[in-house]
Amino acid sequence: MSAARSSGTTRVVILGGAAMGSFCAMSLRDQGFTGPITVVERDPSYARASTALSAAGIRTQFDTPLLVEMSLFGADYLRQTGEIMAFREEGYLVLADAGRAEHRARLAEMQTATGAEVALLDRAELSRRFPHLNTGDLACGTLGTRNEGWFDAWSMLTQARARAREAGVDYLTGEVTGLEAQAGAVTGVVLKDGTTLPCDWCVLAAGAHSAPLVAGLGIELPVVAKKRTAFAFRAPVDPAGLPLTCDVSGFWLRPEGQGFIGGIQPPPERDDHPPEDLEPDHDLLLDLFWPNLAHRVPAMEELRLDRTWAGHYEMNMLDQNAVIGPHDRFGNLVFCTGFSGHGVQHAPAAGRGVAEWIRHGAYRSLDLGPLGWARVRDGQPLSEGMVF
Ligand SMILES: Cc1cc2nc3c(=O)[nH]c(=O)nc-3n(C[C@H](O)[C@H](O)[C@H](O)COP(=O)(O)OP(=O)(O)OC[C@H]3O[C@@H](n4cnc5c(N)ncnc54)[C@H](O)[C@@H]3O)c2cc1C
Repeated sequence: MSAARSSGTTRVVILGGAAMGSFCAMSLRDQGFTGPITVVERDPSYARASTALSAAGIRTQFDTPLLVEMSLFGADYLRQTGEIMAFREEGYLVLADAGRAEHRARLAEMQTATGAEVALLDRAELSRRFPHLNTGDLACGTLGTRNEGWFDAWSMLTQARARAREAGVDYLTGEVTGLEAQAGAVTGVVLKDGTTLPCDWCVLAAGAHSAPLVAGLGIELPVVAKKRTAFAFRAPVDPAGLPLTCDVSGFWLRPEGQGFIGGIQPPPERDDHPPEDLEPDHDLLLDLFWPNLAHRVPAMEELRLDRTWAGHYEMNMLDQNAVIGPHDRFGNLVFCTGFSGHGVQHAPAAGRGVAEWIRHGAYRSLDLGPLGWARVRDGQPLSEGMVF
């Protein structure tokens, strides 16, 4: 099936209007797409959207070179869009014990060769630069010296949304329940109120809740909601100038205002929950996060919890990587989902890629082909190991 690429009447309907949906919409206009674009969003407050609940970190330290390149584009975007993004380029510090040191060093070489700026620090250097860390059981750490840090995801979303609206994109409040298709093409988007929106292109950007929307077409998208709890706290450590730190135990930690935020993945036996469940896992603090934190940063044995919240990782159970690009049987259905907890930083690159595909029929900047549907169909994972 080959849908029209852009005439003034070619209709795009985007399912989900947070980071991915809004960057796809904005980028379509940037690429010169002139047809009507409708973004369907069930909750314009974004109270439950992963984008609004994320830690908004950006890093170039990934296993997959393409993700490094997507982050480099994201970092450029953040720098160019200015102060409002509150981009704090303080780096990610990824710690390694002896068993993982060689692997870390090889990854840093790959990331650097791909255009990132990542320094390998041995234990002595780690202790000198980060005296708050207990380095006794560490061998090394890798520190991004540019293009890494964190930003204001809410500003990123609202700015992309505002730019899309200024360019004539329509945001419709409604809940998508399924898709209609005929002869190998998606022809309509069905809403809960019974309305059907006809479309020539349909972009799936509904985050952790994407899979049920295409299940009716017989598409098994292995993206599920995985609840991740974050803790905001104060501790007797000066946060100024500290990087986002990823520990060997799996916890992550970064400065936030006068204090810190952090989290840790639950063990698999505690990782099953209904898809809409956003009740924070309070026990995770005492069972896992705090003990590991106090081991790595002894001064954080003392902490005062300010607040706890949970959001969803849109976990691709095949390989913890996004699915971007067209479906094989329904060629006008374009995925932009499954970012597995590292998506907000990749929204600018993913949105640009989807827009290039729809507008020009090919990726013109970064080739996002490796993240396409074919690997999911064929069960050929492009595994990303760096998910915190
Ligand atoms: C605690 C936490 C920390 C994170 N930290 C980071 C980080 O440091 N760096 C990073 O890059 N990423 C991080 N992420 C991941 C990041 O937030 C996501 O990858 C990204 O926000 C995904 O954007 P999205 O637009 O695909 O999904 P969402 O932001 O979830 O948006 C999907 C939208 O679709 C709408 N929707 C869903 N179903 C329907 C429907 N049926 N009809 C209409 N609308 C619908 C929803 O209301 C929602 O607004 C984190 C996530 C969490 C939870």
